Amino acid sequence: MTDPTDILRTTFGFSGFRGVQHSVVERVLAGERTLAVMPTGAGKSLCYQLPAVAMAGTCVVVSPLIALMHDQLRAAEAVGIRAATLTSVDDNRAETVARFRAGELDLLYVAPERASSGHFRDLLGQAKLALFAIDEAHCVSEWGHDFRPDYRLLRPLLDAFPDVPRLALTATADAHTRADILDQLGIPRDGLIVAGFDRPNIRYAISPRSNTTKQLSDIIAENPGPGIVYAQTRAQTEKLAEALARTGRPTRAYHAGLDPAVRARNQADFVASEDMVICATVAFGMGIDKPDVRFVAHAGTPKSIEAYYQETGRAGRDGDPAVAHLFWGADDFARARQRIGEVEPARQAGERARLTALGALVETAGCRRAILLRHFGEDPPESCGNCDNCLHPPKAVDASVTAQKFLSA
Ligand code: ADP
Ligand code: MG
Repeated sequence: MTDPTDILRTTFGFSGFRGVQHSVVERVLAGERTLAVMPTGAGKSLCYQLPAVAMAGTCVVVSPLIALMHDQLRAAEAVGIRAATLTSVDDNRAETVARFRAGELDLLYVAPERASSGHFRDLLGQAKLALFAIDEAHCVSEWGHDFRPDYRLLRPLLDAFPDVPRLALTATADAHTRADILDQLGIPRDGLIVAGFDRPNIRYAISPRSNTTKQLSDIIAENPGPGIVYAQTRAQTEKLAEALARTGRPTRAYHAGLDPAVRARNQADFVASEDMVICATVAFGMGIDKPDVRFVAHAGTPKSIEAYYQETGRAGRDGDPAVAHLFWGADDFARARQRIGEVEPARQAGERARLTALGALVETAGCRRAILLRHFGEDPPESCGNCDNCLHPPKAVDASVTAQKFLSA
Protein backbone atom coordinates (compact mmCIF):
# COMPACT_ATOMS: atom_id res chain seq x y z
CA MET A 1 0.00 0.00 0.00
CA THR A 2 1.25 3.47 -0.84
CA ASP A 3 2.22 5.69 2.10
CA PRO A 4 -0.83 7.81 3.08
CA THR A 5 1.31 10.97 3.20
CA ASP A 6 2.32 10.38 -0.43
CA ILE A 7 -1.31 10.00 -1.47
CA LEU A 8 -2.13 13.16 0.49
CA ARG A 9 0.43 15.07 -1.55
CA THR A 10 0.09 13.51 -4.96
CA THR A 11 -3.67 12.96 -5.19
CA PHE A 12 -5.02 15.70 -2.95
CA GLY A 13 -2.22 18.23 -3.25
CA PHE A 14 -2.05 18.89 0.53
CA SER A 15 1.28 19.26 2.29
CA GLY A 16 0.20 17.63 5.55
CA PHE A 17 -2.67 16.20 7.56
CA ARG A 18 -4.74 18.56 9.67
CA GLY A 19 -5.54 17.88 13.32
CA VAL A 20 -6.80 14.36 13.88
CA GLN A 21 -7.05 13.44 10.18
CA HIS A 22 -3.88 11.37 10.43
CA SER A 23 -5.08 9.30 13.40
CA VAL A 24 -8.46 8.74 11.76
CA VAL A 25 -6.87 7.64 8.48
CA GLU A 26 -4.46 5.30 10.28
CA ARG A 27 -7.30 3.62 12.16
CA VAL A 28 -9.30 3.20 8.98
CA LEU A 29 -6.34 1.76 7.09
CA ALA A 30 -5.81 -0.66 9.98
CA GLY A 31 -9.42 -1.80 9.54
CA GLU A 32 -10.64 -0.41 12.89
CA ARG A 33 -14.23 0.76 13.25
CA THR A 34 -14.14 4.49 14.01
CA LEU A 35 -16.35 7.47 14.81
CA ALA A 36 -14.68 10.79 13.98
CA VAL A 37 -16.22 13.92 15.52
CA MET A 38 -14.66 16.94 13.84
CA PRO A 39 -16.03 20.43 13.29
CA THR A 40 -17.30 21.70 9.95
CA GLY A 41 -14.41 22.56 7.68
CA ALA A 42 -11.98 20.32 9.57
CA GLY A 43 -11.69 18.00 6.57
CA LYS A 44 -13.81 14.97 7.33
CA SER A 45 -14.17 13.93 3.67
CA LEU A 46 -10.45 13.31 3.36
CA CYS A 47 -10.68 10.77 6.19
CA TYR A 48 -12.54 8.37 3.91
CA GLN A 49 -11.45 9.65 0.49
CA LEU A 50 -7.80 8.97 1.16
CA PRO A 51 -8.38 5.40 2.37
CA ALA A 52 -10.70 4.93 -0.63
CA VAL A 53 -7.73 5.66 -2.89
CA ALA A 54 -5.25 3.70 -0.79
CA MET A 55 -7.28 0.54 -0.24
CA ALA A 56 -8.30 -2.10 -2.75
CA GLY A 57 -12.03 -2.03 -3.52
CA THR A 58 -14.74 0.59 -3.30
CA CYS A 59 -15.58 2.87 -0.38
CA VAL A 60 -19.36 3.14 -0.04
CA VAL A 61 -20.32 6.56 1.34
CA VAL A 62 -23.73 7.11 2.92
CA SER A 63 -24.75 10.75 2.83
CA PRO A 64 -28.12 12.34 3.62
CA LEU A 65 -28.44 14.94 0.88
CA ILE A 66 -28.25 14.47 -2.87
CA ALA A 67 -26.92 18.00 -3.38
CA LEU A 68 -24.12 17.30 -0.91
CA MET A 69 -23.25 14.07 -2.70
CA HIS A 70 -23.03 15.79 -6.05
CA ASP A 71 -20.72 18.46 -4.59
CA GLN A 72 -18.51 15.74 -3.15
CA LEU A 73 -18.56 13.87 -6.44
CA ARG A 74 -17.37 16.92 -8.35
CA ALA A 75 -14.61 17.59 -5.82
CA ALA A 76 -13.46 13.95 -5.91
CA GLU A 77 -13.46 13.78 -9.70
CA ALA A 78 -11.55 17.07 -9.83
CA VAL A 79 -8.58 15.40 -8.11
CA GLY A 80 -8.86 12.29 -10.25
CA ILE A 81 -10.63 9.96 -7.82
CA ARG A 82 -12.93 7.46 -9.53
CA ALA A 83 -16.28 8.26 -7.97
CA ALA A 84 -20.01 8.03 -8.69
CA THR A 85 -23.34 8.71 -7.03
CA LEU A 86 -26.24 6.29 -7.08
CA THR A 87 -29.39 8.33 -6.45
CA SER A 88 -32.87 8.68 -7.86
CA VAL A 89 -31.87 11.72 -9.91
CA ASP A 90 -28.89 10.08 -11.63
CA ASP A 91 -29.76 8.80 -15.09
CA ASN A 92 -26.45 6.92 -15.44
CA ARG A 93 -27.28 4.35 -12.76
CA ALA A 94 -26.75 1.32 -15.04
CA GLU A 95 -23.31 2.60 -15.97
CA THR A 96 -22.44 3.24 -12.30
CA VAL A 97 -23.51 -0.28 -11.33
CA ALA A 98 -21.37 -1.69 -14.14
CA ARG A 99 -18.35 0.37 -13.04
CA PHE A 100 -18.82 -0.75 -9.46
CA ARG A 101 -19.04 -4.42 -10.44
CA ALA A 102 -15.92 -4.06 -12.57
CA GLY A 103 -14.00 -2.64 -9.59
CA GLU A 104 -13.57 0.72 -11.30
CA LEU A 105 -14.83 2.93 -8.46
CA ASP A 106 -12.93 4.26 -5.46
CA LEU A 107 -16.03 5.97 -4.06
CA LEU A 108 -19.73 5.19 -4.40
CA TYR A 109 -22.08 7.73 -2.80
CA VAL A 110 -25.56 6.54 -1.83
CA ALA A 111 -28.52 7.84 0.15
CA PRO A 112 -29.50 5.92 3.30
CA GLU A 113 -32.84 4.74 1.91
CA ARG A 114 -31.08 3.04 -0.98
CA ALA A 115 -28.38 1.63 1.26
CA SER A 116 -31.03 -0.20 3.25
CA SER A 117 -32.65 -2.01 0.31
CA GLY A 118 -32.06 -5.73 -0.20
CA HIS A 119 -31.32 -5.09 -3.83
CA PHE A 120 -28.44 -2.82 -2.90
CA ARG A 121 -27.10 -5.35 -0.43
CA ASP A 122 -26.96 -7.93 -3.25
CA LEU A 123 -25.12 -5.45 -5.42
CA LEU A 124 -22.50 -4.82 -2.75
CA GLY A 125 -21.85 -8.55 -2.61
CA GLN A 126 -20.76 -8.44 -6.25
CA ALA A 127 -17.53 -6.46 -5.90
CA LYS A 128 -14.77 -5.81 -3.40
CA LEU A 129 -15.59 -3.31 -0.65
CA ALA A 130 -12.86 -1.21 0.96
CA LEU A 131 -14.82 0.74 3.55
CA PHE A 132 -18.22 2.01 4.66
CA ALA A 133 -18.22 5.75 5.39
CA ILE A 134 -21.31 7.12 7.13
CA ASP A 135 -21.31 10.90 6.77
CA GLU A 136 -23.44 13.14 9.03
CA ALA A 137 -23.66 10.16 11.35
CA HIS A 138 -25.62 12.11 14.01
CA CYS A 139 -28.64 11.45 11.76
CA VAL A 140 -28.72 7.91 13.19
CA SER A 141 -29.53 9.17 16.69
CA GLU A 142 -32.82 10.39 18.07
CA TRP A 143 -30.69 12.39 20.48
CA GLY A 144 -29.13 14.24 17.60
CA HIS A 145 -30.69 17.37 16.20
CA ASP A 146 -31.37 15.90 12.79
CA PHE A 147 -32.66 12.35 13.22
CA ARG A 148 -33.29 10.47 9.95
CA PRO A 149 -35.13 7.20 10.45
CA ASP A 150 -33.51 5.79 7.28
CA TYR A 151 -30.14 5.88 9.01
CA ARG A 152 -31.43 3.24 11.44
CA LEU A 153 -31.71 0.82 8.53
CA LEU A 154 -27.98 0.95 7.85
CA ARG A 155 -26.97 -1.41 10.61
CA PRO A 156 -28.16 -4.62 8.91
CA LEU A 157 -26.28 -3.62 5.77
CA LEU A 158 -23.07 -2.95 7.71
CA ASP A 159 -23.47 -6.20 9.60
CA ALA A 160 -23.90 -8.12 6.35
CA PHE A 161 -20.26 -7.19 5.65
CA PRO A 162 -18.68 -7.50 9.08
CA ASP A 163 -15.11 -7.48 7.80
CA VAL A 164 -15.46 -4.20 5.94
CA PRO A 165 -14.25 -1.34 8.18
CA ARG A 166 -16.72 1.38 9.04
CA LEU A 167 -16.06 5.06 9.58
CA ALA A 168 -18.82 7.32 10.92
CA LEU A 169 -18.32 11.09 10.69
CA THR A 170 -20.11 14.05 12.22
CA ALA A 171 -19.50 17.64 13.24
CA THR A 172 -22.10 17.79 15.94
CA ALA A 173 -22.46 15.20 18.60
CA ASP A 174 -22.73 15.76 22.33
CA ALA A 175 -21.75 12.93 24.68
CA HIS A 176 -25.19 11.32 24.59
CA THR A 177 -25.49 11.44 20.81
CA ARG A 178 -21.97 10.09 20.39
CA ALA A 179 -22.64 7.10 22.62
CA ASP A 180 -25.81 6.47 20.67
CA ILE A 181 -24.00 6.63 17.31
CA LEU A 182 -21.44 4.09 18.55
CA ASP A 183 -24.23 1.73 19.67
CA GLN A 184 -26.36 2.17 16.59
CA LEU A 185 -23.52 1.59 14.15
CA GLY A 186 -21.66 -1.11 16.08
CA ILE A 187 -18.49 0.87 16.71
CA PRO A 188 -16.52 0.14 19.91
CA ARG A 189 -16.11 2.86 22.53
CA ASP A 190 -12.39 3.12 21.93
CA GLY A 191 -13.12 3.84 18.26
CA LEU A 192 -14.09 7.42 19.09
CA ILE A 193 -11.82 10.23 17.91
CA VAL A 194 -12.82 13.80 18.79
CA ALA A 195 -10.82 16.94 18.23
CA GLY A 196 -10.27 20.25 16.63
CA PHE A 197 -13.15 22.23 18.07
CA ASP A 198 -11.13 24.97 19.71
CA ARG A 199 -11.16 28.39 18.04
CA PRO A 200 -8.55 30.09 20.19
CA ASN A 201 -8.78 33.46 18.43
CA ILE A 202 -12.47 33.86 19.32
CA ARG A 203 -13.08 35.62 22.62
CA TYR A 204 -16.35 34.38 24.13
CA ALA A 205 -18.50 36.64 26.29
CA ILE A 206 -22.02 36.08 27.58
CA SER A 207 -24.15 38.48 29.58
CA PRO A 208 -27.77 39.05 30.52
CA ARG A 209 -29.78 41.24 28.20
CA SER A 210 -30.83 44.61 29.54
CA ASN A 211 -30.96 47.26 26.83
CA THR A 212 -30.32 45.28 23.66
CA THR A 213 -29.73 48.20 21.32
CA LYS A 214 -27.33 49.87 23.73
CA GLN A 215 -25.49 46.62 24.41
CA LEU A 216 -25.13 45.85 20.71
CA SER A 217 -24.05 49.43 19.96
CA ASP A 218 -21.25 49.08 22.51
CA ILE A 219 -20.04 45.86 20.87
CA ILE A 220 -20.11 47.58 17.50
CA ALA A 221 -18.17 50.56 18.87
CA GLU A 222 -15.49 48.26 20.31
CA ASN A 223 -15.14 46.24 17.10
CA PRO A 224 -14.57 48.31 13.96
CA GLY A 225 -14.52 45.35 11.53
CA PRO A 226 -17.43 43.53 9.89
CA GLY A 227 -19.88 41.84 12.23
CA ILE A 228 -23.00 39.69 12.36
CA VAL A 229 -25.83 40.38 14.80
CA TYR A 230 -28.12 37.38 15.15
CA ALA A 231 -31.65 38.52 15.91
CA GLN A 232 -34.47 36.30 17.10
CA THR A 233 -37.13 37.19 14.55
CA ARG A 234 -37.31 38.54 11.02
CA ALA A 235 -38.93 41.73 12.31
CA GLN A 236 -36.12 42.20 14.82
CA THR A 237 -33.45 42.01 12.09
CA GLU A 238 -35.02 45.00 10.37
CA LYS A 239 -35.56 46.95 13.60
CA LEU A 240 -31.99 46.37 14.72
CA ALA A 241 -30.55 47.26 11.30
CA GLU A 242 -32.33 50.58 11.60
CA ALA A 243 -31.47 51.24 15.25
CA LEU A 244 -27.82 50.21 14.91
CA ALA A 245 -27.31 52.46 11.89
CA ARG A 246 -27.18 55.24 14.49
CA THR A 247 -23.74 53.96 15.47
CA GLY A 248 -22.57 55.40 12.17
CA ARG A 249 -21.75 52.00 10.72
CA PRO A 250 -23.36 50.69 7.53
CA THR A 251 -26.01 48.10 8.45
CA ARG A 252 -28.19 45.64 6.54
CA ALA A 253 -30.97 43.23 7.43
CA TYR A 254 -31.04 39.63 6.29
CA HIS A 255 -33.83 37.09 6.61
CA ALA A 256 -35.61 34.50 4.49
CA GLY A 257 -38.70 36.70 4.10
CA LEU A 258 -36.87 39.48 2.24
CA ASP A 259 -37.29 39.89 -1.49
CA PRO A 260 -34.65 37.50 -2.94
CA ALA A 261 -32.93 40.30 -4.88
CA VAL A 262 -32.67 42.49 -1.76
CA ARG A 263 -31.45 39.57 0.32
CA ALA A 264 -28.78 38.67 -2.23
CA ARG A 265 -27.65 42.30 -2.46
CA ASN A 266 -27.43 42.71 1.31
CA GLN A 267 -25.36 39.56 1.56
CA ALA A 268 -23.06 40.63 -1.28
CA ASP A 269 -22.65 44.10 0.31
CA PHE A 270 -21.68 42.49 3.60
CA VAL A 271 -19.21 40.08 2.06
CA ALA A 272 -17.51 42.97 0.22
CA SER A 273 -17.50 45.36 3.19
CA GLU A 274 -14.81 46.04 5.75
CA ASP A 275 -17.05 47.60 8.39
CA MET A 276 -20.65 46.51 7.79
CA VAL A 277 -22.95 45.09 10.44
CA ILE A 278 -25.51 42.60 9.16
CA CYS A 279 -28.54 41.93 11.36
CA ALA A 280 -29.73 38.48 10.45
CA THR A 281 -31.75 35.47 11.42
CA VAL A 282 -29.92 32.15 11.66
CA ALA A 283 -30.75 31.68 7.97
CA PHE A 284 -27.64 33.80 7.41
CA GLY A 285 -24.21 32.28 7.33
CA MET A 286 -24.52 28.89 5.74
CA GLY A 287 -22.24 28.73 2.75
CA ILE A 288 -20.96 32.27 3.27
CA ASP A 289 -17.23 32.55 3.14
CA LYS A 290 -16.12 35.80 4.79
CA PRO A 291 -12.92 35.19 6.70
CA ASP A 292 -12.63 38.66 8.30
CA VAL A 293 -15.83 38.76 10.39
CA ARG A 294 -14.60 40.43 13.60
CA PHE A 295 -17.60 39.88 15.81
CA VAL A 296 -20.75 37.81 16.11
CA ALA A 297 -23.33 39.12 18.58
CA HIS A 298 -26.44 37.22 19.59
CA ALA A 299 -29.43 39.34 20.60
CA GLY A 300 -31.00 36.18 22.01
CA THR A 301 -30.07 32.66 23.03
CA PRO A 302 -29.41 30.20 20.19
CA LYS A 303 -31.27 26.90 20.23
CA SER A 304 -28.38 24.71 21.36
CA ILE A 305 -24.67 24.74 22.14
CA GLU A 306 -24.14 23.27 18.68
CA ALA A 307 -25.99 26.20 17.11
CA TYR A 308 -24.05 28.67 19.28
CA TYR A 309 -20.75 27.11 18.25
CA GLN A 310 -21.73 27.07 14.57
CA GLU A 311 -22.93 30.68 14.58
CA THR A 312 -20.06 32.13 16.63
CA GLY A 313 -17.70 30.09 14.47
CA ARG A 314 -18.37 32.47 11.59
CA ALA A 315 -16.17 35.00 13.37
CA GLY A 316 -12.42 35.13 12.85
CA ARG A 317 -11.98 32.48 10.19
CA ASP A 318 -8.81 34.32 9.16
CA GLY A 319 -7.30 33.47 12.55
CA ASP A 320 -7.12 37.10 13.70
CA PRO A 321 -8.75 38.08 17.01
CA ALA A 322 -12.55 38.10 16.98
CA VAL A 323 -15.32 38.42 19.53
CA ALA A 324 -18.49 36.42 20.14
CA HIS A 325 -20.93 38.10 22.52
CA LEU A 326 -24.24 36.53 23.54
CA PHE A 327 -26.96 38.54 25.26
CA TRP A 328 -29.47 36.20 26.83
CA GLY A 329 -32.72 36.66 28.69
CA ALA A 330 -34.67 34.43 31.04
CA ASP A 331 -37.56 34.73 28.60
CA ASP A 332 -35.45 32.94 25.93
CA PHE A 333 -35.34 29.91 28.19
CA ALA A 334 -39.00 30.17 29.11
CA ARG A 335 -39.93 30.20 25.42
CA ALA A 336 -37.62 27.30 24.67
CA ARG A 337 -39.21 25.28 27.46
CA GLN A 338 -42.62 25.99 26.06
CA ARG A 339 -41.51 24.88 22.58
CA ILE A 340 -40.14 21.64 23.99
CA GLY A 341 -43.56 20.93 25.48
CA GLU A 342 -44.96 21.01 21.96
CA VAL A 343 -42.54 18.61 20.23
CA GLU A 344 -43.22 14.90 19.96
CA PRO A 345 -42.69 13.15 23.31
CA ALA A 346 -39.86 10.91 22.07
CA ARG A 347 -37.71 13.96 21.36
CA GLN A 348 -38.43 15.95 24.50
CA ALA A 349 -35.70 14.41 26.66
CA GLY A 350 -33.05 15.23 24.06
CA GLU A 351 -34.32 18.77 23.63
CA ARG A 352 -34.41 19.28 27.36
CA ALA A 353 -30.83 18.04 27.73
CA ARG A 354 -29.76 20.45 25.00
CA LEU A 355 -31.42 23.33 26.81
CA THR A 356 -29.85 22.38 30.14
CA ALA A 357 -26.39 22.33 28.52
CA LEU A 358 -27.06 25.79 27.13
CA GLY A 359 -28.19 27.00 30.56
CA ALA A 360 -24.91 25.77 32.05
CA LEU A 361 -22.95 27.69 29.43
CA VAL A 362 -24.68 31.02 30.04
CA GLU A 363 -24.66 30.61 33.82
CA THR A 364 -21.14 29.44 34.47
CA ALA A 365 -18.72 31.55 36.46
CA GLY A 366 -15.97 29.38 34.98
CA CYS A 367 -14.37 29.18 31.58
CA ARG A 368 -16.82 29.33 28.66
CA ARG A 369 -14.41 27.66 26.27
CA ALA A 370 -13.91 24.76 28.66
CA ILE A 371 -17.68 24.17 28.70
CA LEU A 372 -17.89 24.35 24.92
CA LEU A 373 -14.97 22.03 24.30
CA ARG A 374 -16.08 19.53 26.93
CA HIS A 375 -19.48 19.52 25.28
CA PHE A 376 -17.77 18.38 22.09
CA GLY A 377 -15.82 15.71 23.94
CA GLU A 378 -12.46 17.42 24.25
CA ASP A 379 -10.50 17.69 27.46
CA PRO A 380 -9.56 21.38 27.74
CA PRO A 381 -7.65 23.20 30.48
CA GLU A 382 -9.76 24.77 33.26
CA SER A 383 -9.06 28.25 32.01
CA CYS A 384 -8.54 29.59 28.47
CA GLY A 385 -7.51 33.16 29.17
CA ASN A 386 -9.70 34.40 26.33
CA CYS A 387 -13.30 34.46 27.55
CA ASP A 388 -15.14 36.95 29.75
CA ASN A 389 -14.94 34.81 32.89
CA CYS A 390 -11.24 34.02 32.52
CA LEU A 391 -10.39 37.66 31.79
CA HIS A 392 -12.64 39.13 34.48
CA PRO A 393 -13.52 36.46 37.06
CA PRO A 394 -17.06 37.19 38.28
CA LYS A 395 -17.81 37.92 41.95
CA ALA A 396 -18.90 34.87 43.91
CA VAL A 397 -22.54 35.90 44.16
CA ASP A 398 -24.32 37.03 41.06
CA ALA A 399 -27.50 38.93 41.87
CA SER A 400 -28.94 38.57 38.38
CA VAL A 401 -31.75 36.14 37.74
CA THR A 402 -30.18 32.89 36.63
CA ALA A 403 -31.27 30.70 33.78
CA GLN A 404 -31.25 27.72 36.12
CA LYS A 405 -34.36 28.95 37.87
CA PHE A 406 -36.20 28.80 34.61
CA LEU A 407 -34.70 25.48 33.62
CA SER A 408 -35.72 23.72 36.78
CA ALA A 409 -39.13 25.36 37.21
P1 ADP B 1 -15.92 18.85 6.63
O1 ADP B 1 -16.68 17.76 5.91
O2 ADP B 1 -15.23 18.36 7.85
O3 ADP B 1 -16.77 20.06 6.92
P2 ADP B 1 -14.41 19.02 4.19
O4 ADP B 1 -14.09 17.60 4.07
O5 ADP B 1 -15.50 19.54 3.30
O6 ADP B 1 -14.75 19.40 5.70
O7 ADP B 1 -13.07 19.86 4.01
C1 ADP B 1 -13.03 21.25 4.17
C2 ADP B 1 -11.92 21.86 3.34
O8 ADP B 1 -10.65 21.55 3.87
C3 ADP B 1 -11.91 21.36 1.90
O9 ADP B 1 -11.74 22.47 1.06
C4 ADP B 1 -10.72 20.44 1.86
O10 ADP B 1 -10.18 20.37 0.56
C5 ADP B 1 -9.78 21.09 2.84
N1 ADP B 1 -8.81 20.15 3.45
C6 ADP B 1 -9.09 18.95 3.98
N2 ADP B 1 -7.98 18.36 4.48
C7 ADP B 1 -6.96 19.22 4.26
C8 ADP B 1 -5.54 19.19 4.54
N3 ADP B 1 -4.98 18.15 5.15
N4 ADP B 1 -4.82 20.26 4.16
C9 ADP B 1 -5.39 21.31 3.55
N5 ADP B 1 -6.70 21.39 3.25
C10 ADP B 1 -7.49 20.38 3.60
MG1 MG C 1 -18.49 17.04 5.27
